[in-house]
Formats: sequence, C-alpha cells, structure tokens
Amino acid sequence: MRRLVADDATRLARCVVDDDDDAVLEDVSPRGPMNAFEATNLYFRRAAAIMQLSPHIVTLFETPQREVKVGLSIEMDNGEVHTFQGYRVQHDNSRGPYKGGLRFHPHVDPDEVKALASLMTWKTAVIDVPYGGAKGGITVDPRTLSMAELERLTRRFVDKIHDIIGPQQDIPAPDVNTGSQHMAWIYDQYSKLHGHSPGVVTGKPVELYGSLGREAATGRGVAIATREVLKAQGKSVVGATVAVQGFGNVGTFSARILQQMGAKITAIADVSGAVRNNEGIDVDAAIAFARSTGGVRGFPGAEALKDANAILFEPVDVLVPAALGGVITRDNARDIRAKLIVEGANGPTTPEADAILDGRSIVQVPDIYANAGGVTVSYFEWVQNLQQFTWTEEEVNDKLERKMIRGFETIWKVSLEKKVSLRTAAFIVAIGRVGKARVLRGIS
Ligand code: NAD
Repeated sequence: MRRLVADDATRLARCVVDDDDDAVLEDVSPRGPMNAFEATNLYFRRAAAIMQLSPHIVTLFETPQREVKVGLSIEMDNGEVHTFQGYRVQHDNSRGPYKGGLRFHPHVDPDEVKALASLMTWKTAVIDVPYGGAKGGITVDPRTLSMAELERLTRRFVDKIHDIIGPQQDIPAPDVNTGSQHMAWIYDQYSKLHGHSPGVVTGKPVELYGSLGREAATGRGVAIATREVLKAQGKSVVGATVAVQGFGNVGTFSARILQQMGAKITAIADVSGAVRNNEGIDVDAAIAFARSTGGVRGFPGAEALKDANAILFEPVDVLVPAALGGVITRDNARDIRAKLIVEGANGPTTPEADAILDGRSIVQVPDIYANAGGVTVSYFEWVQNLQQFTWTEEEVNDKLERKMIRGFETIWKVSLEKKVSLRTAAFIVAIGRVGKARVLRGIS
C-alpha cells in the first residue's frame, strides 16, 4: 500500500512512499513543468519524508531566512538613467556564513534565486564546507551593457547590500555571466566601505586574492565524482564513453580531466551545436577550436549531430549535462540512453524526469554533490584569504580530491543503507547535517 507523504497542492507532483519505504514521485498535474523553487522543494520533501521530519521543520527549511530585493539605478554611457532589479536570498546559515553565486541574466527572478539559494544550503552541507546557502542575481542582459556600465551596476549592487554581506556573514561568488572581474569590483567596493576584506567574495582573479585551481574546480569535481561512481559500480573510468552537454567552464574542464583519467569523450555540445566522434574527441583541440570560432559546431574530425539537444540521447556510458537547468524533462527522459548521468549543471533534471530515470535504473549523480567542487575551492580561497596565506595548485587539487571522495563515500553508503537514489541520499545527508547544526545552535 502507498502512503502519501508530501503533496505540492499548488503544482504537479506528490511524493508517496511504498511498502519498501521507497519514495516515488507521482506526476499528478496537467500544468506543465514546475518551476525551480518547486522542484528543489520537492526533492527536499522527498528526503524529509523518509527522515520523518515534522511539518514544522519542513517549513523552517523551506523558508529562506532573508530575501532582499533592491532597485539599482545607474547612469548609462549615453547619460540616460536605467533601473535594474537585484536580489539576494539568504536561505540558511545554520552551518556557517551564507554562501552562493551572483548571476546576471534576463531571466533572473525571485523564485529562481530562492531555489538556487536553498540548493546551496544542501550543497555546502553534502560536501561538508562550513557555510550556509545563498544566491543573488540581477535581472539584466549583460551583453547589452558596456564594461563601464557593468562595473557601475556591480558596485551599485554592493552599495545596496553591503550591510548583509561580509567575510563572516555572506560571501558571494561568480555564477552565470559573472566572473573574476565582477568579484574584483565587489571586493574593491566592499573594502572601500568596510576596510580591506578579500574574504567577502570568492572566485577573484588569482592576481587579486583568488585561489589557484578555482577555475578548473567544478569540472575537476565532476570528473572525480564520475570516476568514483564508476569504481563503486565495479567499472572503470578508463575507456568509459562520455557525452558532455555545455562546453563552457564546467563542460570543458570536465571533458579535459575525464580524458586525462582515460575516459573517451565521444560527443560534446554547446549552444552552437553538437558533434560526435566514436573514436574519441581530442578535447584540447576542440577547446582551441571553440575558442577561435565561438563554438564546437564545425569541429573537424567529428560529425555533426542533428542539433545541440541531440547530445542528450547519445548511447554512452556517462552523460554530463553541464549547460542549463531543466534540460532533462518528462518529455525526453525516456529517450536518454546513457547508463549514468553526472549533473555538472545546477538543476538539469526536472523531478518528473528524475522519477522516470530512476524507474529505468539510470543512475543520477545529483548536482548538490557532483558540481560541489566549485564551492569547495571557493571555501579554500576564503580560508587562504582569512589566513593571508597561499596554497599551491597541487595542495588545492589534493584537498579537493579528498573532499569529493569523502562526499561520495557518504552518499553512496546512505543510498545503499536506505535503498534510495543518490539524489535522495545526498539530501538526507545534507538535511541531517543542517538540522543537527540548527538544533545544537537553537531554533531562535
Ligand atoms: P558557461 O557560461 O561557462 O558555459 C555554459 C555552456 O553551456 C556554454 O558552452 C554554452 O554554449 C552552453 N549552452 C548553452 N545553451 C546550450 C544548449 N541549449 N545546448 C548545449 N549547450 C548549451 O557556464 P558554466 O560556468 O560552465 O556553468 C554551466 C552550469 O554549471 C550552470 O548550470 C551553472 O549554474 C553550473 N555550475 C557552475 C559552476 C562553476 O563553477 N562555473 C559551479 C557549479 C555549477
């Protein structure tokens, strides 16, 4: 008999637990895919149900501790004044200062920022770095702004939120369309107001208190996660075939490091298109080609796939979605042919797709563990800033490797013990750690 344990009354799915205590999602909505916040909360509730958390605790962890919305008026280069919306959501700080990226994108909205903030709480807990979770964003298409306008916008954002961020309070980092230059501006603007504070942001340029190894960290973590899962399954990364969707920071480093580990990258895709070579793609040559032409489309020595999306259906051992959120959906999950999916992107799989893939025994390595290499090295950067000391790249990589292996061993064990997916296991581990910290500190 099935028991209903979580129900999203406003939207489309409910979580039920069957006789074996396996939680399954039932799709009950005709209304199309849920938004990012609903999806995150559904994953959270599925684990919370297995842990038998009380409804009050569920509400506590579903409710961000602070949501800030600010109007950002700046003078454009042509003398006009434009006003943008900026957001910072601080989800939970039970385990340490809030931590999370800052995204510049026309689609940034409060729901998305809330979802990503809560994902950060669970991600920092799974990988066990002493932070909570936060996220921020500005609703803007940065391609329409000059560098000088972007600088003014970033500095104005700091002017508006400087009281709620800080090295011991909330530490932003790069995310979609922000990079080390934006972090340098944040560090500078915050330091004008509060004194020299390199620890207020991570992802800074290496020449300005950034950490060696940060740029490759997320992709390196994805590669280590892939190797460890294959090992636990009694397989080897050597010779494993891999398709990588997205050929930016996460995709290129994932592909390069997996190839160095002995995997065969047979397909890659970016927004320009997708290419395949069953004998293996030379990743460094593909990176050089994409840099010089703006994309992987037309890469010599590989055949073109029908379109960029076709990469999802390659018959490979491992699929690494490392582009956008929400790409694996209930409409295409049945066509996925990979045996293992390692989530480089944040939220690439909708809950409906997650349930379909679980039903097809396709193992999914969830984003909150698989792409946690970035925040792990951000933590190392912050530690170096606070200590006013720098580590070598080997030290950083070595410490990252140990964190990723430890994280994997923990979620794998819980997954076997509780007979749940790696995603649910990761949420169980994270909720347990955050919950314990919250109880020890006291609820008030
Ligand atoms: P990026 O901007 O460097 O690269 C994104 C890539 O996706 C580009 O190659 C782009 O062409 C490609 N892309 C866009 N639309 C596509 C489509 N329809 N089909 C195929 N490819 C497409 O971004 P990134 O930093 O590599 O981040 C990628 C994902 O990883 C995001 O979801 C991000 O939130 C997540 N992530 C990044 C980090 C990090 O440290 N950079 C850490 C954790 C999670």
